[in-house]
Amino acid sequence: MIKKILENLEKSNCSIDDPFMQAVSEVLNSLQPVIENDDRYDTYAILERIVTADRMIQFKVQWVDDHNRVHVNNGYRIQFNNALGPYKGGLRFHPSVNIGVLKFLAFEQIFKNALTGLPIGGAKGGSDFDPKGKSDFEIMKFCHAFMRELHQYIGARKDIPAGDIGVGTKEIGFLYGEYKRITRDYDGVLSGKPFTFGGSLLRPEATGYGVVYFAQEMLKQELEEVLEDQICTVSGAGNVAIHTIEKLQSIGAKVVTCSDSEGTIYDPNGIDLDVLRSLKDNGKRLSLGFYATKISTAVYIHKADYPIGGHAVWNYPCFAAFPCATQNELTEIDAQNLINNGCVAVIEGANMPTQPSAIELFLSEGVLFAPGKAANAGGVAVSEFEMSQNASMEKWSYEKVNAKLNEIMCQIYKRISLTAKEYGNERNFVIGANISAFKRIAEAMILEGV
Ligand code: NDP
Repeated sequence: MIKKILENLEKSNCSIDDPFMQAVSEVLNSLQPVIENDDRYDTYAILERIVTADRMIQFKVQWVDDHNRVHVNNGYRIQFNNALGPYKGGLRFHPSVNIGVLKFLAFEQIFKNALTGLPIGGAKGGSDFDPKGKSDFEIMKFCHAFMRELHQYIGARKDIPAGDIGVGTKEIGFLYGEYKRITRDYDGVLSGKPFTFGGSLLRPEATGYGVVYFAQEMLKQELEEVLEDQICTVSGAGNVAIHTIEKLQSIGAKVVTCSDSEGTIYDPNGIDLDVLRSLKDNGKRLSLGFYATKISTAVYIHKADYPIGGHAVWNYPCFAAFPCATQNELTEIDAQNLINNGCVAVIEGANMPTQPSAIELFLSEGVLFAPGKAANAGGVAVSEFEMSQNASMEKWSYEKVNAKLNEIMCQIYKRISLTAKEYGNERNFVIGANISAFKRIAEAMILEGV
């Protein structure tokens, strides 16, 4: 049945190297033991329905730059599945955005949201707009134009977008401002808002902190190990990477790398977060090359100076690696380098950053591998806390949000490790995450009827 569905998808609209096909294949291929033990999945055509988006919305975004030149971009919102609750998932602004990328992200989001145990469905959206090199006014004008179209499809009980690559607190502020001007509704429809008008404490930090909470629990339970005093490598230099580094440093780990789309920094003394922030925080997009001009012990490796097929960021000895940049950034060659250099755990902060052959290698070599849909779910969990706070007009304390975030990450670990064990694949957290999320979503779809 699984083979037929994948063939049909390929025939209809997807090529095998499409990230959506990659994500669907990974999930469906791990569901065989569940599917064969419950006829209802076939009766209710759950697999066919779960791989098909409820709707895919595409719109034109027209805006004017600081020199009065007119630009047109594509805008999208993919509402994939709302069996468990309102559609929920981020907006990505990046030139690589297209329907295929957003379909993969929206599909993954259904499973991630299900793993949190919270009542949220899955969606994703964004635009091929490139925020790099744009002034704040241009970003504001683009966000306003984007929201003029998007507002008609979203709502606090319907679809609640958040941030992702290229969309941080600043962009969410502009988007929410326009939403309120158009609708005159103060219903908190976006999450990741600035704290002064409805945002939750700890939302900016939540994904990165959650990644570390997950890693701590996994290492404690599986290896009786801690991250304190261990060397870690992190890729990326955006929201998820910065907060992963911040939390790792706060618990005594030494993070020796970070990277962006142009190159990698290796700093054997540990990444200096103040310097990194001065280049990348809050939407700043300066080159990481400047880091090495400020810190004499650091080395900058431009991507052009590193052999094709791998990334410099994964070529340093470490105890644990945290890919936090983007999809498919960690190749089989990188995986082999990490293993050769003594890495015992890989925890995904980004969405699907590890290529399938690299995952296979980690699993076969006994490296603990935590898939993003489980390990990076802390961001969406705190987004849901923001929705709760908005609905009740409350403000939760930092301590309360942090404790709940930690609890959710530990529960996710427990849920997926127990499921992996139950289905005869101990320590295979890919299978554990896919089966555990699938069962929750499928049950809701069956109970709600067709
Ligand atoms: P940001 O835009 O804040 O940062 C993205 C970082 O990745 C930047 O440093 C960027 O470099 C780098 N990057 C982008 N493309 C590439 C590439 N092709 N090769 C190497 N580096 C690249 O995004 P986030 O930190 O928010 O998101 C990072 C990942 O985490 C994404 O996969 C996202 O989907 C996922 N995620 C984010 C959540 C959140 O709460 N923000 C929640 C859950 C998952 P440059 O500056 O040069 O573009």
